[in-house]
Amino acid sequence: MDLKSEFSRMPFKVLCDEILAPYTTLQIGGQADYLAFPQNEKDLSSLLKVSQNFNLPITVLGGGANTLILDGGVRGLVVSLSKNFKGIEVLLENKNEVLVAVGAFEKIPSLVRFGIKNGLSGVERLMGIPGTLGGALMMNAGTATQYIEDLIESILWMPFEERKMKTLNKEEIEFSYRATKLPAPGVVISSILRLKRGSKKELESLYKQNISIRKKKQPWGKPCAGSIFKNPRNDKAGRLIEECGLKKLCIGSAMVSEVHANFLVNTGGAKSSDILALINEIKLTVKKLKNIDLNLELNIIGEEESPARICSHA
Ligand SMILES: Cc1cc2nc3c(=O)[nH]c(=O)nc-3n(C[C@H](O)[C@H](O)[C@H](O)COP(=O)(O)OP(=O)(O)OC[C@H]3O[C@@H](n4cnc5c(N)ncnc54)[C@H](O)[C@@H]3O)c2cc1C
Repeated sequence: MDLKSEFSRMPFKVLCDEILAPYTTLQIGGQADYLAFPQNEKDLSSLLKVSQNFNLPITVLGGGANTLILDGGVRGLVVSLSKNFKGIEVLLENKNEVLVAVGAFEKIPSLVRFGIKNGLSGVERLMGIPGTLGGALMMNAGTATQYIEDLIESILWMPFEERKMKTLNKEEIEFSYRATKLPAPGVVISSILRLKRGSKKELESLYKQNISIRKKKQPWGKPCAGSIFKNPRNDKAGRLIEECGLKKLCIGSAMVSEVHANFLVNTGGAKSSDILALINEIKLTVKKLKNIDLNLELNIIGEEESPARICSHA
């Protein structure tokens, strides 16, 4: 049986040549050869098996909030977990702590709301962060000093090769600043988090502060992908880029945000090559003027298409 027939027999949605831009917060990106929405672990396992049989590369997409998909699209299979991989369940609670199991496709803002509603501290580090739990785990998302890794007890995942669910304890996972390494490539299915009992009132107030700061200091509501570069040790990428005079620099329809220089905004119809050209320009300028190498936080996937259309400062 050929690949298309294999996928069409699957009891869940597998789209062919699906444009991925709407699946990302930057709203940029070409077609996936195949975009699949497995409904449960069995679906996921059969999907991985077919991909293996046909030698298809596999990419996992969460909420696309930290991802630039190139305009040439993504070859092979893109896996997007469906709503069946959402959910927050209290497993164990005592006077001080609560263990919760959270599905990988659960939205981070929902987890934060759950924490606030139940007075569970730990979620403060995730306030204002879009995307899913799976993406947050793989990016070790958080603030400048507090990451999601501090909350993790274990991760349930399915390695691409073995296609069986496995539990990883925290010690088996390599966490670093905005990066997580599992023992092999795979799909995160859920995670157990350890939250502490806290004050609901304090959490509510922290949340209000956080959102109000983000509204002022980030391009709130505009298509973007969070911080583009990691902060260099003891410094801030945004400050360096701003000091180099790059705020509002525009290439094609991509622009360095006027409110936060480490955010790039799609001002309408930007191409991935516009974003890549801006990234390149920023790196070169910061190296030249500050002698600092900026490293990407943004996750870039897919293939390039046409060259960028360069314009000047907006
Ligand atoms: C306005 C804005 C503000 C932001 N602020 C912050 C911030 O303060 N702190 C911060 O850390 N980040 C921030 N981000 C970045 C982003 O929200 C986080 O990195 C988020 O955790 C990404 O989650 P996602 O589901 O969108 O991941 P995606 O972008 O979809 O994927 C990110 C990575 O995770 C992998 N992945 C996703 N799901 C799975 C899974 N189930 N199994 C295996 N791999 C998976 C992908 O393959 C990819 O490598 C911000 C983004 C925006 C747009």
